[in-house]
Amino acid sequence: APTDAPALACRGIERSFGGLKALKGVDLEVRPGEIFGLVGPNGSGKTTMVNVITGFYPPNAGRVALFGDDITGLAPHAITRRGIARTFQNLALFKGMSVLDNILVGRHIHMHPSVLGTLFYWVAAVREETAHRTVVEEIIEFMQLQEIRHEPVEVVPLGLQKRVELARALAAEPRVLILDEPMAGMNQEEKEYIARFILDARDERGVSVLVIEHHMDVVMAICDRVLVLNYGETIAAGPPAEAMASPKVIEAYLGH
Ligand code: ADP
Repeated sequence: APTDAPALACRGIERSFGGLKALKGVDLEVRPGEIFGLVGPNGSGKTTMVNVITGFYPPNAGRVALFGDDITGLAPHAITRRGIARTFQNLALFKGMSVLDNILVGRHIHMHPSVLGTLFYWVAAVREETAHRTVVEEIIEFMQLQEIRHEPVEVVPLGLQKRVELARALAAEPRVLILDEPMAGMNQEEKEYIARFILDARDERGVSVLVIEHHMDVVMAICDRVLVLNYGETIAAGPPAEAMASPKVIEAYLGH
């Protein structure tokens, strides 16, 4: 793939559910190192777009490329292996497991089942486990979760659980990180924390970010560019201040 390829390039994405056209030919391009916002009123197709990109719903038309490699129609686990990690609107953490173990789950795509087949599998397995723990410890420190690392995840306050989910996604060391409403249900202080972590993840870990976000203050503060959807169509795109001020966008939000 060419080195100047976009981190994520979606061309002409269409997706229907029965007679409903949820996406009507959407183009979206995230540049390397960019924080890109996907916005629009409820039901405009944002989550469907993310589900198409991550392989949960194959598109009816259009192509998705990751750093120039076509990934259209690959299964979710295959797309994860190619380097896309996501978080979900509703938390998808494992209750009964510690914060640390939940984050370690994010490493599973880098674990090699083949080591189990070798004669000294336990040596290889221990060595591998140690390497994964090092990455996870580094992310726990980066996300400032040291104090709660051994807590069962379900006793941790909601705002921190969202942070654990973000840590788990980062543990996969993705090239592209997709966040579906990472600030939902958070207070102002927690929102600012998450905004900071997203910026740091880009600056220090080099990930490109696609984020679905409803809080316009957050979009303005962290997004380099946005795409605004309404009824499955692009109604504005560009720097957030310009795009959000366009008459079509204002009309779309007033209509809801
Ligand atoms: P948003 O994330 O912007 O709120 P969605 O992508 O969730 O919007 O939904 C876009 C449209 O597609 C909505 O009308 C929604 O009801 C519909 N839709 C989404 N997923 C499904 C599904 N699995 N089955 C049927 N309709 C769906």
